[in-house]
Amino acid sequence: MSTAARFQRPRHRSDDRFQWSITASAAMWPDAAAFTAVAAEDDRQIKALLVNAHPDDESESAAVVYRIAHECGGIVDQVVVTNGEGGHQYAALAEAYYRLPLTTAADRRELLGQIRREEVMRASRILGIRNSYFLGQLDTGMTLNAADAFDAWDIRRIQQELRSLLQFGKYDLVLLLLPTAHTHGHHQTVAALTLEAVAELEPEDRPAALGVRTVAFAAEEPRGFSELDGYPVTRTTSPEPVWVFDRRTPLSCHPSLDYGIVVNWVIAEHKSQGFFQMELGRRTHEHFWLFEASGEAGAARWRELVQAMEQQSHSRHSVQNVA
Ligand SMILES: [Zn+2]
Repeated sequence: MSTAARFQRPRHRSDDRFQWSITASAAMWPDAAAFTAVAAEDDRQIKALLVNAHPDDESESAAVVYRIAHECGGIVDQVVVTNGEGGHQYAALAEAYYRLPLTTAADRRELLGQIRREEVMRASRILGIRNSYFLGQLDTGMTLNAADAFDAWDIRRIQQELRSLLQFGKYDLVLLLLPTAHTHGHHQTVAALTLEAVAELEPEDRPAALGVRTVAFAAEEPRGFSELDGYPVTRTTSPEPVWVFDRRTPLSCHPSLDYGIVVNWVIAEHKSQGFFQMELGRRTHEHFWLFEASGEAGAARWRELVQAMEQQSHSRHSVQNVA
């Protein structure tokens, strides 16, 4: 039996060393919907959709997602296009934790895909994400070329899913990873596909579509971003970010506690990612760019959203509107 099949087996067998991981996971992995504080939809609630290529991409905007879901009482859903099974080189550290041969199993891709779906569901529970839609596309591994995923994925199906979610979900905000030329090609592909779907909506129905990039406080300001070459739909309203959120902003539950804690919780759920945890843990500022595809209606929604989010702030010095 393959390692992945053993991992899936529902019943406990004391002689199966792999069984511990799924037993523990089942106990700690309730449906994320049960953790959504919101009982019913309300027209005044912020509704946001994250569209990401990989389980762990949600960590880039973790502080703002937490603020929307938990502190502004909003609704956040997410689309995860792949199960993130492509990269295993830094998973060695997690082998002891999961008690699984993540880097050497013959079916390690299947195994990693299952584990990474679990990891993003646990992160979603922390963030207060309501619905997660997994599109099950192949994670073909690292590339800097957006065209690679256009070849590997069922693009038509992704487009259909995004169209219907955007049409029926009536989101105020769509959050993407900023599709720079230096980021993973899958992030670029997902941004281009999502922004095409946003641009197809009736102008008055368009959400504010934003790209996020996090940087370390000590680092220089992020480079400007105007558009990804070859994908004009990714054009931003300005090369500079329209908003910055400092993760050291105090949480509403206690002035001594800040959003960095929540970000650390989220990052820590992605134990199979390894290197990512060192890198992401250093970042303190979430920078947001507004895409032109949002149109006037989306831009107006963004102004209202910023107002709603800043009203929640305990430290106006920490939330900078740089528009
Ligand atoms: Zn990613």
